[in-house]
Amino acid sequence: MQDYDHNNIFARILRGEIPCRKVYEDAHVLAFHDIHPQAPTHVLVIPKGAYVSFDDFSATAPAEEIAAFMRAVGQIARDLGVAEPGYRILANTGLNGGQEVPHFHLHLFAGRRLGRMVVAAE
Ligand code: AMP
Repeated sequence: MQDYDHNNIFARILRGEIPCRKVYEDAHVLAFHDIHPQAPTHVLVIPKGAYVSFDDFSATAPAEEIAAFMRAVGQIARDLGVAEPGYRILANTGLNGGQEVPHFHLHLFAGRRLGRMVVAAE
């Protein structure tokens, strides 16, 4: 597994070095609007801990952090008012998953009918 890069952009947001449009924060989790939204609502949810990817988080995070993270994702969707009529969550993971920022994050998309899941062409 790749080493965590403490200078990745989300680590810098967590340290307050780069601003974000925050939508939620608790002891374990931060959520903010994506800078290049791909849906009317496009929020990124990240753990405060230093995890490279979903693979890293799911394998090494303490159960308390995993539970807090999953609870927060649902809470954020409800707070945003998108639990109904629904939303999509996505975790790009690693090279083939198209992950660009090496700090685990979930994308939360909502605000329109998102269609079927697609795999982008090369
Ligand atoms: P991924 O390809 O899953 O790693 O997605 C990274 C996401 O981070 C992209 O959707 C970017 O638009 C988003 N992003 C990059 N820099 C920032 C930033 N400073 N603030 C908010 N979102 C960002």
